[in-house]
Amino acid sequence: ALPVIAVVGRPNVGKSTLVNRIVGERVAVVQDTPGVTRDRVSYPASWAGRDFTLLDTGGWDVDVKGIDASVARQAEVAIDHCDAVVLVVDATVGVTNTDEQIVRLLRRSGKPIVLAANKVDSAMQESDAAYLWGLGLGEPHPISAMHGRGTGDLLDAVMEIL
Ligand code: GDP
Ligand code: MG
Repeated sequence: ALPVIAVVGRPNVGKSTLVNRIVGERVAVVQDTPGVTRDRVSYPASWAGRDFTLLDTGGWDVDVKGIDASVARQAEVAIDHCDAVVLVVDATVGVTNTDEQIVRLLRRSGKPIVLAANKVDSAMQESDAAYLWGLGLGEPHPISAMHGRGTGDLLDAVMEIL
């Protein structure tokens, strides 16, 4: 079976935009409304000659109830079923409580994690992502899922931990 990479993070950080960028088509639904991806959705993808399955997940709001809680549950299921995790945070917002809770859950999962600091749309903003070293997940990879900057380096890092 192909390795499975799950893209996780709280709502609206750009997970689906990143999935579209990597898959190379507009397959994932990008919305300004948080939590639009209601399920795990998997897509075939490849990088540097290696094939893998990419899992887009719904927004992961650990505290909420109802539909969003089930979306959070889907994200947890995705983690159970993956070989590596790309944790996406919004570098323009900073680390939220939800981000910290997600990091704790990810740590418990024991899965290898690559940290993507999204919405770094220009080189000037790159230093803004440095504080994300504080999450204790190693190097934050500044990317712009929207414009494609940094996503190649991110995928290189993912291939290294697979
Ligand atoms: P998801 O909920 O994590 O799947 O987030 P989406 O992919 O649906 O994106 C949420 C919002 O962030 C949308 O309005 C996107 O256009 C925007 N967005 C995603 N990536 C970037 C980026 O790299 N830069 C900027 N400026 N906006 C982004
Ligand atoms: Mg989404």
